[in-house]
Amino acid sequence: MATEFELIRKYFERAPRGARRGALARSVALGIGDDAALLLPSAGMELAVSTDLLLEGRHFRAGADARKLGHKALAVNLSDMAAMGAAPRWATLALALPAADETWLDGFAQGFFSLAARFGVELIGGDTTRAPASGPLSVCITILGEVPSGLALYRAGALPGDDIWVSGELGGAALGLAQPANAAAARRLDEPEPRVELGERLRGLATAAIDVSDGFAQDLGHILERSGVGAVVEYARLPAFPGADAKQVLAGGDDYELVFTARQERRAEIEALARELKLALARVGSIQKGEAALQVLDAGRRAMPLARGFDHFAP
Ligand code: ADP
Ligand code: MG
Repeated sequence: MATEFELIRKYFERAPRGARRGALARSVALGIGDDAALLLPSAGMELAVSTDLLLEGRHFRAGADARKLGHKALAVNLSDMAAMGAAPRWATLALALPAADETWLDGFAQGFFSLAARFGVELIGGDTTRAPASGPLSVCITILGEVPSGLALYRAGALPGDDIWVSGELGGAALGLAQPANAAAARRLDEPEPRVELGERLRGLATAAIDVSDGFAQDLGHILERSGVGAVVEYARLPAFPGADAKQVLAGGDDYELVFTARQERRAEIEALARELKLALARVGSIQKGEAALQVLDAGRRAMPLARGFDHFAP
């Protein structure tokens, strides 16, 4: 059986590949194999850092496809970079594995590295440890990115009068969880597409941003709380994934779309950006003065009841 170090070398110590190879080589002085990696951040940039932990039985089903898990574990971290307007650069990967299953490691690495290559992210280190045989299998990724000083997108920047925008479609992942046989919806759940390019292009354009991990209403709620503003959204304008119901659209998690706010004067620029990126951007409502409350109006302009989004510690 392979040792811990052989497994790391075989599956995770890869030379950077992909479109931005030159940029990668310049951003890492020392990668996997020593006691710490040494990074070469660019001048004038702030470092954006975020961590996500995925547990078997909690965030993914026991026996989940390893390649899809490798994709999703990195995708949720890339989505956090997108929501900050940061360009993802480096990642570390901590694995607790109930067994040294090489078929699993090979699949996981394929999913991880094919997404990493698309966005020019280099795996620069991590930790590999054995979990109890009963599990849970756990995957923890820390991602680091760069954003020009002063241009990061905060949750706190929304201003009264701003438009509220949503990328892509909402509710697909929740639909995929409820109906695994719906292949398009299941793909939204298992292989989300992080909106990295959109996030970078929203620098200086959006006033606030967040990614939809726990549900549209809850995540927009975080912008409202941090910004000290309210919001009115028209349900009919929300970009529903085909077949998703109102609860899935408003409170379904795991979509990894971006919700952002922007001044009304920027509408034409945002519409042009949607065409350029070939990514739907829907203007769904507006930010209001006053308490941090969200009203979602139905077709008759009545306030709809809002189900709570995902909360690990909700009773
Ligand atoms: P240490 O004992 O100093 O923590 P390790 O023996 O755990 O070092 O790891 C050896 C090298 O392999 C380190 O550079 C570490 O960052 C890297 N590494 C360990 N596990 C992983 C992993 N799952 N993915 C990427 N790099 C890893
Ligand atoms: Mg270690």
